[in-house]
Amino acid sequence: MYRCTSKFYWHGFLTFPPISTTPEEDTSPEVGIQAPRDTVKCSDPATPALLSQQKIINNRASHTTSVPSADPAMGQSSSSTVSHTKGGDLASSFDKFFKDFKVESKIISQETIESIRSRLKEGDLPSAVSAISDALREIDNAPLSIAVTGESGTGKSTFINALRCMGAEEDGAAPTGPIETTFERTPYKHPKFPNVTLWDLPGIGTTNFQPHDYLEKMKFREYDFFIIISATRFKINDAQLAVAIKKMKKNFYFVRTKVDSDLYNQKRSQPNKFNEHEILQRIRNDCVTRLQKANVSNAQVFLVSSFDLACYDFQNLETTLLRELPAHKRHIFMQNLPNITEVTIDQKRDSLKQKVWLEALKAGALATVPFMGYISDNDVETLKDALTLYRVYFGLDDASLKIMANDLHVSVEKLMANLKCPHLLSIEKDDESLGEKLLRYVEIFCSVSGGPIAAALYYSKIYSLQNYFLETVVSDAKVLLKKEEIFKDSEDPGQTYLPQDVRNENGESEAVSA
Ligand code: GDP
Repeated sequence: MYRCTSKFYWHGFLTFPPISTTPEEDTSPEVGIQAPRDTVKCSDPATPALLSQQKIINNRASHTTSVPSADPAMGQSSSSTVSHTKGGDLASSFDKFFKDFKVESKIISQETIESIRSRLKEGDLPSAVSAISDALREIDNAPLSIAVTGESGTGKSTFINALRCMGAEEDGAAPTGPIETTFERTPYKHPKFPNVTLWDLPGIGTTNFQPHDYLEKMKFREYDFFIIISATRFKINDAQLAVAIKKMKKNFYFVRTKVDSDLYNQKRSQPNKFNEHEILQRIRNDCVTRLQKANVSNAQVFLVSSFDLACYDFQNLETTLLRELPAHKRHIFMQNLPNITEVTIDQKRDSLKQKVWLEALKAGALATVPFMGYISDNDVETLKDALTLYRVYFGLDDASLKIMANDLHVSVEKLMANLKCPHLLSIEKDDESLGEKLLRYVEIFCSVSGGPIAAALYYSKIYSLQNYFLETVVSDAKVLLKKEEIFKDSEDPGQTYLPQDVRNENGESEAVSA
């Protein structure tokens, strides 16, 4: 039973069984997900091996959620001994939490992790909080500028639009198809993340500049990295440009577009001999050999179709970029990416999870408010903001759902009926208040994640609710990966699919389809 007043009361939270953390029992997953190294075949975008690997990762991930640790002395943090104990607890939680993520998934550098951890360990909580605030500010304000260069017609604009989750016909999309070649660079901001700018640069071959002058003219210092695009073989110009970029200490990546069309043509001309893997390998080898001849050693070429980023090498490109970006820019890069596969969605989730955790740690480390066990109106506002943000990050905000419903020729209501996140904060039962519903989520989250969330941390309830919301949005995003399948016959009343991994009160999966 829950006690309810004008605030939303909750209790019983401290009695959940603890998370098992002994080394023998610890089944902590590698939460950061290693993208498959092999090219993903388009004809088989979700290979059984990939799916089962993903299932294992998801299963394991859903059973471990590292959280800010319990503070046995909440409410007395003025004593230095208490600060020390609390700091020590937080330091070990902090350590454990970040150990679970692969290097390329971490959104703060190892140096920053070390610095925060040592401040926590020393019990210097104000200084730890200030370091966490600095790290969060750096992540939130990180700009990301991506230069995309290549000859006209190679597919630059289409690639840029795909990265911005935009169709060629949408307002603000980079114009595609035969258009006049411009000699100026053109910026395209991401519609939802204004800190992200993709720059369309004229191909070096269309200007008469030498690579060094070209880079100066294009203001190379402003970009985080370059993507050099070709729809056929890379030219000597492209190779020379790459060498010059390297000299300027910037990273570059070769992207070979339109591989879908190469495969299609091959299949039409030689249907009996058609072997997708061999053709892709041939294209890749050809590109690499030509670049080597032009003095670009160890060139890595990513084969891509901008019409289907889930296929071929885009996932590898994504992981490579993540690994090579500075840690504080990984979050903005991940959020910018469209939800192309479950792997990408999980990577986005991991990135957000770290942010949610840092926010909770920041709020909880200095909190001296006694553990009250209720959800205030302010908390509800915080949760509303968090949910809105997660929905935007995963393209499930109202505006995006409207566009999606339109594309699928279904009503927004029907689309929403297949999702959980739009209903998380609405009151559906007459005999249950929003506060009670939220408390139910906390219990579900705790039973799934395996224990109390930072029992005495005042902000722990917000933390567990934010995580519950995040997992629900992630689950919905995965459901929508199959949207064409779900709504293939829009005249049909359609099945209602509930997102996977959302548990009911008994911790049982509600992943059922009506
Ligand atoms: P840009 O001049 O380099 O910006 O090239 P565009 O993006 O305008 O693309 C030129 C043409 O190639 C357009 O008709 C696009 O639809 C098409 N295109 C671009 N990328 C791909 C791709 O990955 N696959 C296929 N099949 N066509 C593409």
